[in-house]
Amino acid sequence: MHGFIVKPKYPVPMKPKSNRKIKSFPVGEVVGRLEAAYGGPPPLGRFGPMDELVSCILSQHTSDTNSYPAFERLKIALPTWEDLVAAGPERVADIVRSAGLANQKAKSIIRCLVAIKEKTGKYEIDFLANMPIREARDWLSELPGVGPKTASIVLCFAFAMPVIPVDTHVYRVSWRLGLIPEGIGENKAHDLLLESVPGDLAYRFHMGLIQHGRQVCKAPTPLCGKCTVTDLCRWFQEGGPAKHSALLAKVRLRRQACKRGVHAKAQRSPRWNRGELRRREEETANGRSQ
Ligand code: SF4
Repeated sequence: MHGFIVKPKYPVPMKPKSNRKIKSFPVGEVVGRLEAAYGGPPPLGRFGPMDELVSCILSQHTSDTNSYPAFERLKIALPTWEDLVAAGPERVADIVRSAGLANQKAKSIIRCLVAIKEKTGKYEIDFLANMPIREARDWLSELPGVGPKTASIVLCFAFAMPVIPVDTHVYRVSWRLGLIPEGIGENKAHDLLLESVPGDLAYRFHMGLIQHGRQVCKAPTPLCGKCTVTDLCRWFQEGGPAKHSALLAKVRLRRQACKRGVHAKAQRSPRWNRGELRRREEETANGRSQ
């Protein structure tokens, strides 16, 4: 038999690269391609450190579209941090209602401000600029309402430190690319990415992955056909799309079987029989009376 090569219509996964060392991952190449697809990130320094911290607490569990107007209203209504603390949680919650979870966020913001005042004697965190990154992140993370993600956002956006805030998009795209193991959680991912992404690329990497996660590498089904980094993606190279389709088909079949099972069970149940009996009796009675 004569062998001949048939050119595949679709990109075929290459040999698995699971032994690839994370440190050798071409981060610069990924960042360059993502910026070519989505454009470069906006300049840093939108807010000062305290504004960034408070706006970031407000933005938890909601979009920037909801939280920014709330933050602006807060700054106009209560221009100084002293005003904000003195106003109390109920008034603050009324002002930031549109950001969602207003009662909880108002309390967190006030408790956070009070803690900063107790620790430093003023409402200011500029001194973090002179601390090593991990120490600065730990210091912020100890404040009420501030977790590793909020701390990293403040250090990245307000202090331009080379940290990578890990949100749901950064986390998902990072493990699909093969930069972090699956299932390690966002907190550990902060540390691993800090080690594997060069500092000068941290902010661009963060912003590129967010755009990619929103537009192409979506959860639960990524649009790999539109992706520009398939050749660098571990999930794709290890046959992720085919496995994912098979899994979805299995889930669909199981759901259908489950629905059929529930229906059959309902028909066997005495309650269903009583209801069905009553319905049939009513139909019969109506038929007679007509
Ligand atoms: S190839 Fe698919 S899974 Fe990998 S980064 Fe691109 S969209 Fe995400």
